[in-house]
Amino acid sequence: MADEKRRDFIKKVGIGAAAVGAGLATSSVPAMAKKEKTYRWKMVTTWPPHFPMLGEGADNFAKWVKEMSGGRLEISVYGGGELVPPLGVFDAVSQGTVEMGHGAAYYWAGKSPATQFFAAVPFGFNAQSLNAWLYSGGGLQIWEEVYAKFNLKPFVAGNTGVQMGGWFNKEINTVDDLKGLKMRIPGLGGKVLAKAGGNAVLVAGGEIYTNLDRGVIDATEWVGPFHDLKLGFYKAAKYYYYPGWHECGTCIEAMVNLNAWNSLPDDLKAIVEAAAYKCNMWMLSEFEAKNNAALNELINKHKVELRQFPEPVLKKLKELAKEVLEEVADSDPMSRKAYDSFLQFQETIYDWNKLSEEPYQRMKYL
Ligand code: CA
Repeated sequence: MADEKRRDFIKKVGIGAAAVGAGLATSSVPAMAKKEKTYRWKMVTTWPPHFPMLGEGADNFAKWVKEMSGGRLEISVYGGGELVPPLGVFDAVSQGTVEMGHGAAYYWAGKSPATQFFAAVPFGFNAQSLNAWLYSGGGLQIWEEVYAKFNLKPFVAGNTGVQMGGWFNKEINTVDDLKGLKMRIPGLGGKVLAKAGGNAVLVAGGEIYTNLDRGVIDATEWVGPFHDLKLGFYKAAKYYYYPGWHECGTCIEAMVNLNAWNSLPDDLKAIVEAAAYKCNMWMLSEFEAKNNAALNELINKHKVELRQFPEPVLKKLKELAKEVLEEVADSDPMSRKAYDSFLQFQETIYDWNKLSEEPYQRMKYL
């Protein structure tokens, strides 16, 4: 019996060794050659160079890919304007001028309105639900379909968490207080404000403070306490509103030119994918960990007055948001596909949240 087992063992090992040997003989040379090749990519971003958390995320992405690949994939990161303008990222990667980009999909609404569903939907998902929809609920596949038309492959590569509602110089007690209000608020949130009678304007990050200070705009949103403190909005506006109904967990993206992607060996593809996952988790954790200290500084040191949007205001904005989203969905088939998938997932996740996250949120303050 023992001899039989030994013979079997030798037989198996022998076959195994022979198979491995054959594999080595036939494919080791091209595999080795491919493995020795160093890929040098450029990544352009929509952020100012090394911008806290967002630009840092892009820097880290490149660093992690280099570490994981043992230096076989080197990515040089360029802040907005260093190689191409911040809003030129999509075209530069799509056209293959550079291999990679880092930004947020709502900047590309002009290319395809469907992109907006993959960044921030007013009254949409928080970071956790958005990850669930994108990774496990079919959202990312639709995103890939949208980007493939532009020779791009998207990756989830960050999240801001729930943002703040913005900076105002008057209280917002009713929806009428939004009428005629000139506010810097981008994307779908801006369209909702416009429906409420406000005037949504687009101002680049670096120019918001001056515009607010000089009264060119009446109000602005930016990100959350950590970033808002750095831009000094508390010097130009009195009230700091929450919650950020327009950006409840904004997804930050990475994108890769499809030709560049297809040229990578499988292990480097897996490394890029892993770095994107890591970037997503790292960024959200940074936002979650650092926002409250900044909020305390705004309130205690700079005497900012914190205000919550009244529920009737939020309710009205939510109604208007639904109208805006339906209009976008009606504007092209991919938007409809993305929105339908979003809505379907929302129904499922909200049912589950009702007995998981919601009771937890109430319970934790007991
Ligand atoms: Ca924002």
